[in-house]
Amino acid sequence: MLIERIWSANPYRNFHYLIACPESGEALAVDPLEWRLCLDAARKKGWQITQILNTHEHRDHTGGNEGLVRATGASVLAHAGAATRIGGIDHGLSKGDVIRVGRTVELECLDTPGHTMAHICLLGHGEQPALFCGDTLFNAGAGNCHNGGNPELLYDTFVTQLARLPDNTQVFPGHEYLARNLEFTLDREPDNADASALLAQARQHDPTSDITTTLGQEKNINTFFRLHSPSVIVRLRNVFPDIGEHPDARTVFIKLRELRNRW
Ligand SMILES: [Zn+2]
Ligand SMILES: [Zn+2]
Repeated sequence: MLIERIWSANPYRNFHYLIACPESGEALAVDPLEWRLCLDAARKKGWQITQILNTHEHRDHTGGNEGLVRATGASVLAHAGAATRIGGIDHGLSKGDVIRVGRTVELECLDTPGHTMAHICLLGHGEQPALFCGDTLFNAGAGNCHNGGNPELLYDTFVTQLARLPDNTQVFPGHEYLARNLEFTLDREPDNADASALLAQARQHDPTSDITTTLGQEKNINTFFRLHSPSVIVRLRNVFPDIGEHPDARTVFIKLRELRNRW
């Protein structure tokens, strides 16, 4: 499986991805809003975009479908529950479906509600698994739930699905928010040395170059995976005294999400 990350340089800070089969050169484009950039990247590599995957129905992920379909004839895939809202979908996807790209690539569809109620994360298996997680999981952060989402379900997705994937899984989100998210982690957990070290790196970082985290690393630097950290809980109690001495992980997650909304 070949992965090309494409930095949009747009105000939404989108990341796009091409996932290609090394044998056939067929490629799948993930959320190709700036579709011309995706087309150029594919041409440079000698790949043909034959499929488009929308992780969810928001316009900053689907707005490039039409242009890219016109240019390539690619078929469009999305969560079955988002198909009518997106329009022009060729295949509606459900949990456990496998998307094949060329002869060698297989991507498993995870049904990951929370940011919206119809969100797909793609999991590429292999020696180093790869997770294309749209707006569910960001590097060092979590998606918001303002536009059709639900924080309770986002918590369930984090705990029952994402946290259980192998620690060496690479994380490929839909937007570049790394430094801002690390600042939030450090606001909540100032003694997090791993987050401090990565923030220093992220502040000098050009988004076109690679900082790719793994899930194992996320468990150290992403406050939404650090629901049992004593320092996270102590600081959270300063803001929300009613959570008590020993809040459960769900409460911690939901209160962190609430804080992040106004932070
Ligand atoms: Zn979104
Ligand atoms: Zn988005």
